[in-house]
Amino acid sequence: MTDQTKTGKSSNNPRITFFGAARMVTGSMHLLEAGGQRILLDCGSVATGKMNQDKPPEPFPFDPQSVDAVVLTHSHHDHCGRLATLVRDGFDGPIFTHPINIELLGLLLRDSARIQEQEASTSRRRGGPVVVPRFDTADAELTLDLCEPIEYGQKASLSDGIEVGLRDAGHILGSAMAHIAWRQNDRDRSLTFTGDLGRSGVDFHPPPAALPACDYLLCESTYGGEYHDSVEVMARKTGQAIRRAVREGGKVLIPAFSLGRTQIVVHFLQTWMREGIVPPLDIHVDSPLGHRFAKVYDRSPEGFSVPLRIFDDIDWLETRDGAMDASLSPGSRIIIASGGMLEGGRILQHLKHHVDDPRCTLLLVSFQAPGTLGEQALQEDDSIRFAGKRWNKWIAVEQVRGFSGHADHGDFLNATAPLEGKTTQVMLVHGEEERAEKLAAAFSTRGLGTITIPNLGQTVELV
Ligand SMILES: [Zn+2]
Repeated sequence: MTDQTKTGKSSNNPRITFFGAARMVTGSMHLLEAGGQRILLDCGSVATGKMNQDKPPEPFPFDPQSVDAVVLTHSHHDHCGRLATLVRDGFDGPIFTHPINIELLGLLLRDSARIQEQEASTSRRRGGPVVVPRFDTADAELTLDLCEPIEYGQKASLSDGIEVGLRDAGHILGSAMAHIAWRQNDRDRSLTFTGDLGRSGVDFHPPPAALPACDYLLCESTYGGEYHDSVEVMARKTGQAIRRAVREGGKVLIPAFSLGRTQIVVHFLQTWMREGIVPPLDIHVDSPLGHRFAKVYDRSPEGFSVPLRIFDDIDWLETRDGAMDASLSPGSRIIIASGGMLEGGRILQHLKHHVDDPRCTLLLVSFQAPGTLGEQALQEDDSIRFAGKRWNKWIAVEQVRGFSGHADHGDFLNATAPLEGKTTQVMLVHGEEERAEKLAAAFSTRGLGTITIPNLGQTVELV
């Protein structure tokens, strides 16, 4: 493996600098300098762990005004969370993304701006510390105005003859991989960025489109070296947890991100209950934003390979009173709530009520990043610290891995097989170090060219 780190010398070669998701899974943000343009691939927040929550946000490590365009793969926070701040700080170019993603992004940005404005005004009213929103409603609206839709299979042109195309990534609704083509030094060149690549073999989204042929591949590696549970194993593990809850009279708490994970979990629970694979049990969803996303899912049948089951017999909770009622009423039930890694979100209120109840089950359906409360919950300890105190952890904790919207090791090998002998450089991002290394080891034997796992802040020349 070789790479060339930034030397400060000017170069006529295209290059890419990694400002996030380098040897980690969050904060996706990569600056491609090619064909005379500066194109930012995603603009995500570091969204997991507590490490950044008490610090003011870092300024961008580049001048936002110097960026010519953004390509946004999808609206998970770790890919879009800093986008409105980029606009607030002076970016005013086009944001290329899929039209459905613009709709989802609108829900997310407006909700986030409203919450930040409320927090600032509450603190001001109470004489508390000055809270400065990272962005406000005006920034959110300006960001949405800059979005330029590209359908899957279509292209848009930037100046200097650069073309940006999108293909269906199959990760969440409206998710895309990006293909950027340009001419430089009398050569046609292109780069494919997978964004988050979906998994195959699950009847929900159609499988990801074929990776566009390219010279340079920027590939996520979240599940390098890992294989997901099959749908049958997912159903069996979920059924065991629900049967236990019914038998004991306990609750099943499922933390899930509002966009994507909530909807797929609801769909499969409904499907398995109808098919008699898991016992019927009331499902409550405590995620008003997840409800709004679900409505977009429901009116976008073209984004799914099966009819969606996300509204029949589901209690989408809208008020705090309703949520507490669902949590505290006696009897078994399933409560899905926002906060996929237990780092904030509505799940924490439910966890406070049930963490010391051995009849209940915490069913984890997402990757739990190192340092998160979700990762702590998976440890054997019989106590856990959150919300300012230590609690007895007598709730059963189970994990079902297959709900992931990410490719696993086998999916990566299949997706990249047609590129063997064609790409000259592959850069692995968006994976913990060990997983990225496992994928790099597999790729290095397959004729995909030079394999690099970039460090944070590193510039790789595209030669
Ligand atoms: Zn994602």
